[in-house]
Amino acid sequence: MVEQAPSTSRRRVAVLTSGGDAQGMNPAVRGVVRTGLNRGAEMFAVYEGYQGLVDGGEAIRHVEWDDVSGVLNRGGTVIGTARSKDFRERDGRRTAVKHLLEHGIDRLVVIGGDGSLSGADLLRSEWASLVQELADRGEIDQDTADRHPALMIAGLVGSIDNDMLGTDMTIGADSALHRIVEAIDSIGSTAASHQRSFVVEVMGRHCGYLALMGAIAGGADYVLIPEDPPLPGWEQKMCALLASGREAGRRNSIVIVAEGAHDRDNNPITSEYVLNVIRDTLNEDVRLTILGHVQRGGDPSAYDRYTSSILGYAALEEVLSAKPDGVSKLIGTRGNRVSKVPLMESVAQTRALADAIAAKDFNTAMAMRGNEFTEMEHIFHAISHALPTVTRKRKSTRLGILNVGGLAPGMNAVARAAVRLGLDRGHTMVGISNSFQGLVDDEVRELQWGDVEGWTSRGGAELGISRRVPTVKDLYAIGRGIEKHGLDGLLIVGGWDAFAAVSTMRAEQDRYPAFQVPMIVLPATIDNNMPASEQSVGADTALNLIVDSIDRIRQTGTASKRVFVVETMGGYCGYLALMGGLSGGAVKVYLHEEGITLKDIAADVENMVDAFRAGQRLFLTVRNEKASPMYTSDFLVRVFEQESQDLYDAREIVLGQTQQGGSPTPIDRILGTRLAAHSIDWLSHQVDLHKHDAAMIGMQEGTPRIRTLRRVEEMADWEHRRPVRQWWMELRPVIDVLAARLALPENA
Ligand code: ATP
Repeated sequence: MVEQAPSTSRRRVAVLTSGGDAQGMNPAVRGVVRTGLNRGAEMFAVYEGYQGLVDGGEAIRHVEWDDVSGVLNRGGTVIGTARSKDFRERDGRRTAVKHLLEHGIDRLVVIGGDGSLSGADLLRSEWASLVQELADRGEIDQDTADRHPALMIAGLVGSIDNDMLGTDMTIGADSALHRIVEAIDSIGSTAASHQRSFVVEVMGRHCGYLALMGAIAGGADYVLIPEDPPLPGWEQKMCALLASGREAGRRNSIVIVAEGAHDRDNNPITSEYVLNVIRDTLNEDVRLTILGHVQRGGDPSAYDRYTSSILGYAALEEVLSAKPDGVSKLIGTRGNRVSKVPLMESVAQTRALADAIAAKDFNTAMAMRGNEFTEMEHIFHAISHALPTVTRKRKSTRLGILNVGGLAPGMNAVARAAVRLGLDRGHTMVGISNSFQGLVDDEVRELQWGDVEGWTSRGGAELGISRRVPTVKDLYAIGRGIEKHGLDGLLIVGGWDAFAAVSTMRAEQDRYPAFQVPMIVLPATIDNNMPASEQSVGADTALNLIVDSIDRIRQTGTASKRVFVVETMGGYCGYLALMGGLSGGAVKVYLHEEGITLKDIAADVENMVDAFRAGQRLFLTVRNEKASPMYTSDFLVRVFEQESQDLYDAREIVLGQTQQGGSPTPIDRILGTRLAAHSIDWLSHQVDLHKHDAAMIGMQEGTPRIRTLRRVEEMADWEHRRPVRQWWMELRPVIDVLAARLALPENA
């Protein structure tokens, strides 16, 4: 009989990773473990997935705070993963239960794919009978059996494919998309030098997410996905499309193939086959790149770091509050928020989708993937076709597009999509350089399909931008510019300055008839401070740059004991500071929304001294640039250093303008494309109805929503240039829990 764990009131929870590894599993494990410790639970890690449960012994280990230090930025899973044949058998699962009970564990967080999550649910449903079997066989005593009548579980989906229904994103999918887009960008430049075609194969057996989003973010020409196979004769159509793209100005052609691609009879379409078709039809040099495991590699993206941390936190809360007779929950995301759905329903739907593909019921497969997926497929088709997909030509409707305010990575992706979709809808698209001043100075040109080629991957703003915000005095000249260039509608891309400028123009519509054209603001600012918009274009790239810098700072910090105050941009909006801190593993975040008091600083110094005395080598804090007018980063550093008792040095790092640079991330490219598409549709609609509203588009819980500017103005905190209500402040407690080592209960 095994040695029994002592009876204790502290709840015991284990976490394991199973199936294929995915970037973001480590932040999730860290989130689970630290939240558990914070809540007073005893935490265990199971090494090598379910095999570790079956093997027991050293594979199930007690974990403490420091055991999950330094893992946030590491790809893969530090607790190992495996596929276990033994666990598929009841005997194996009975042994797994015995090993869990040796440690008194009856709560389990599983991070894995649909197989792993099904395994968890099976274990949960069999638990009582397996426990009884163990008691009957004398392998555990009846008291132990009685103390653990049920297993409580929570599931997180770790899978780079984003193939699970029931959550918008799976852990690892965004990082995989980063790898794919990096590869397409690199391939794109070499292909363009030689005027070559490239076929790129990406992962996704039953799911075209990586292929489709990779194609949109990478600016590819053609994509093959399992859910929506091409119609017979697709080979000729694909080649004609590639040829027309070349004629319209492309220097390369890129076709993305999901590994599970097939035709409408479910015969596989291999990437080699696609290569041969292009080579033989177009008679040109074609190269194939199969990305394979590269997609699982590398560091987790900022998104995967903060989302997985939040999901880990939520999974732990779920497993602690789960009831023995409740339904197992999958913890995922729905439009920026944590969602909980019945785990086995999600697994069943995911499998039903694969079945629909197998049964050639592709309409059902696409419908099950959801509206966003279908919408993005349509957008991809419209922007990748060099000839308009809609033949109807409007009566010389001219839509202008301009950038206003500070630079945001992704502005070029917006412009490219807007120009191509506008042309597709039959408009004449007019690019206005250097903001509103360009209208005044006649820096205006018509843009054709090929003019925006290659813009998706570029940082900066090809149309130019100016920080100069128009004042009331400029309105007359701007109005003249609109009339002179015959603009019937405006797409204004930018942050608060863009919003404020269009607000002024809206207010003056009666006085200046030239402003009686539809105008729509598309939020593009790294600060993510726009009302009625939960995610602005550029913020994700900035976050990734912040996280990158923090990783470097950490490396230099390990050489000596150091406190860092990393200052982020954001104006009065703490989004970048909070999310950067969460993704970078900061211990403390200073936000204008909360202010800084002398008492806070004193408490922080005390924490620092205690932490360094206890052996800590690095104490990372992130401060928003306007967190406090008095307690500046410089001030904080001087106080921290002065009070260090020679235990550490303190350094200030101001990240500054670098946060606005860089090639846009997949999220920003995709978001920019999606918002541009909705904006162009809205403008078209307005023009058709002879309306001239002023509006703003914004993401609301994962869906683009257009609101009148008047309504958005009411949602704005004008003094601090941020929304009155900021959704991400709900995440504030997570960072406290994940960083609040010193607030742990005794011996946790
Ligand atoms: P991926 O998406 O990376 O394939 P997955 O979790 O779906 O991840 P699987 O190989 O299906 O990967 O499952 C991982 C492990 O989970 C299996 O090796 C097995 O130990 C366990 N498992 C899967 N399905 C079941 C099941 N129906 N019953 C019991 N255990 C299962």
